[in-house]
Amino acid sequence: MAEKRDYYEVLGVSKNASKDEIKDSYRKLAMQYHPDRNKSPDAEEKFKEISEAYAVLSDNEKRQQYDLLGHAGFDQRYTAEDIFRGADFESIFKDIGFGFGDLFRTFFGGGFGRGDFRERINRGQDLLYDLKLTLEESAKGTEKEILVPRTEKCEVCKGSGASPGTKPRNCPKCNGAGKVKHMRKSSFAMYVHVTPCSTCRGKGKLIDSPCKNCRGTGIVKKRRKISVKIPVGIDEGYQLRLRGEGGMAPNGGEPGDLYVVVHMIPHELFMREGDDLWHVLIIGYPQAALGAEVSVPTLDGSSTVKIRPGTQAGKTIRLKGKGMPRFRGYGKGDLLVRVGISVPEKLTPKQRALLEQLAKEFDQDVKSKRRFRL
Ligand SMILES: [Zn+2]
Ligand SMILES: [Zn+2]
Repeated sequence: MAEKRDYYEVLGVSKNASKDEIKDSYRKLAMQYHPDRNKSPDAEEKFKEISEAYAVLSDNEKRQQYDLLGHAGFDQRYTAEDIFRGADFESIFKDIGFGFGDLFRTFFGGGFGRGDFRERINRGQDLLYDLKLTLEESAKGTEKEILVPRTEKCEVCKGSGASPGTKPRNCPKCNGAGKVKHMRKSSFAMYVHVTPCSTCRGKGKLIDSPCKNCRGTGIVKKRRKISVKIPVGIDEGYQLRLRGEGGMAPNGGEPGDLYVVVHMIPHELFMREGDDLWHVLIIGYPQAALGAEVSVPTLDGSSTVKIRPGTQAGKTIRLKGKGMPRFRGYGKGDLLVRVGISVPEKLTPKQRALLEQLAKEFDQDVKSKRRFRL
């Protein structure tokens, strides 16, 4: 097999392209190379290449892994099916009015990927679950229980779809294989084209007396409690993949995967920027002018910072290692304390007198005496 080209190069985007740029670029190239539209002999190959690049780069976790490991390392960890699994082609193909499902099967049916054809088309649904996390949960790592609505094996028929006491029988048309071979001739070669069997719809089995509980599908809808381990340092938009925790497939196929998408709840005191945290510290004018030692909140309590005499509003003080722990890495980011200076809204007569005296000393014109009340 020819050496794979760099995914970024394939899509013609830069290494730090945004998700939208990647999507836009793929949409354009897909319009150009979709085999329904482009009849040149290498269009299908090209289409496969851009689709693979898109499947990887549009997925946060896979993109990270690819950036980190390069093609060689990445291909060791992910099979061709893994690469495509979970990628959102549907919305793009709906936009441009092409089908993808059949094409996808053509890729895999043509020896791309591993495993049995019937299992793949009978695979359960991949599910997405949006999980909200606090900054503290991300900082310490945790375990969350989530309630996922999904399809599960029917208990009445044990997933066979046949009513108790009966059994599904092999489909006579495909002999239980679920697929039918067609020969297709082009000007260059003969192709063997494989499609799902139309009699059993790719299942390989026929059910004469369907189970009433699941109407012959072998699956029922349930809400299942699932425990999710949250790794330390996780951030907005990261996806955790729980293999086999997605929907159960009808008629005993392989279950789909569950993707837990992380959303961070905004924090009262800290704003997160990667591994760093920002905190706004408000001090008084005398403290800024004369210097002070003040306490600032940190993720695990508080720290004391020194305010130098003559500190200006907007100055940033860096507290090393007081930020977020690095995701799948070592150490922590920093806490960046941005100084703000407060101006009192109400004054006691004595404070007013002192400030007026100070203003005079600085030769600053103040109008406090001319203020009138209704
Ligand atoms: Zn059943
Ligand atoms: Zn069949």
